[in-house]
Amino acid sequence: MIEKVVIANRGEIALRIQRACRTLGIRTVALHSEADRDAKYVKLADESVCIGPPPARDSYLNIPAVISAAEVTDAVAIHPGYGFLSENADFAERVEQSGFIFIGPRAETIRLMGDKISAIRAMKKAGVPCVPGSDGPLADDDDENLRLAADIGYPVLIKATGGGGGKGMRVVHSEAALRNAISLTRAEAKAAFNNDVVYMEKYLENPRHVEFQVLADQHGSAIHLGERDCSMQRRHQKVVEESPAPGISERVRQRMGERCAEACRKIGYRGAGTFEFLYENGEFYFIEMNTRVQVEHPVTEMVTGVDIVREQLLIASGERLSYRQKDITWHGHAIECRINAEDARTFMPSPGRITQFHQPGGPGIRVDSHVYNNYVVPPNYDSMIGKLIAYGENRETAMARMRIALSEMVIDGIRTNIALHQDIMNDAAFGSGGVNIHYLEKKLGL
Ligand code: ADP
Repeated sequence: MIEKVVIANRGEIALRIQRACRTLGIRTVALHSEADRDAKYVKLADESVCIGPPPARDSYLNIPAVISAAEVTDAVAIHPGYGFLSENADFAERVEQSGFIFIGPRAETIRLMGDKISAIRAMKKAGVPCVPGSDGPLADDDDENLRLAADIGYPVLIKATGGGGGKGMRVVHSEAALRNAISLTRAEAKAAFNNDVVYMEKYLENPRHVEFQVLADQHGSAIHLGERDCSMQRRHQKVVEESPAPGISERVRQRMGERCAEACRKIGYRGAGTFEFLYENGEFYFIEMNTRVQVEHPVTEMVTGVDIVREQLLIASGERLSYRQKDITWHGHAIECRINAEDARTFMPSPGRITQFHQPGGPGIRVDSHVYNNYVVPPNYDSMIGKLIAYGENRETAMARMRIALSEMVIDGIRTNIALHQDIMNDAAFGSGGVNIHYLEKKLGL
């Protein structure tokens, strides 16, 4: 077993990783910027190292600083969490070249899945259903591109192969707009990702976002933990997630989950990962793979009983998966609300001191958060300050518990999006289940 892990992240996920390490008797090193010096999880860690000033590029994204911290503390492995360096293949490579274990897939896998065109090709080869599209880069040939778009059928989407974070995409509704859209997306992609390769796929008009969680060890085994529905989004950012996805049968879950697990075996995947799909009219279309733990992993943990971060640590230690596929069963329903330090109506970030923090409790309630009374939310990072997760034997119970938990939760001194979550939990369409990815923005009149 790994003896000591460097946690190269901050906030709730840094605390979550620390807790998983403790259950396995693994010592922890908390890396932090100057802005996070006083965070409680930093004090709770066995050791801590300040890796730089508040801006992420000078601290949490500073590769030499992270690797030196692992060296000076004699750590064995580095857990990147989510965001920051977690999907940076060069980082993973340098971690392993420096003699540490990267808690995640091999650098070449991250690279393969980080480029959208190569990811789609690998998935097609592995039998995962993809969005109909150009099957590779677009050439600089207007006639050919027009033919391609006509074959696929408008609307089409021009996407940058190096894109991420919802950037580098443009919807095209008609022939007249195609040429311009391709050159604009190319120019933007060049500026943002230093890669002007773009491709084309069918634009799905009203899909849901349904994703599958997988775990794969270093001995060729891979399993899936079922799916999550993350359709409640604003600007491509997930706001509420749940598992199981409303309306997905056990048979479909097993069939799609097994395809994802099989794809992991085929590409030699290692660790935890997520296959993201758009789901429309009963069909799944692969859009991308996240090669790391995700924010919304707890809803899967609640319905399967599997501790995903613990499994990541065991896999990185070289152990075999603790479960076979037939050991995985799904019970009940779990919903997660992302609690953000931002105005519930304008979405303006609201950093500052939390003068009073009271977290809800009771049956089925889980709070993953690093904040406490008098914690100061720094202005430098993502506005998420915690996650509220409600479990129940069915979706109605989970929603009822979530409503109560939201009403009990007290966060004073800053603004939060709790009122938005209360609106969503009382929304009739959400209550029926299965809204699409545009629902929240339409509801909010955006
Ligand atoms: P990124 O890496 O930037 O997050 P994704 O490929 O995951 O890019 O797409 C981000 C979002 O864009 C998706 O969650 C979905 O809302 C939308 N999207 C992507 N591809 C399509 C498509 N073919 N049709 C409709 N919407 C799409």
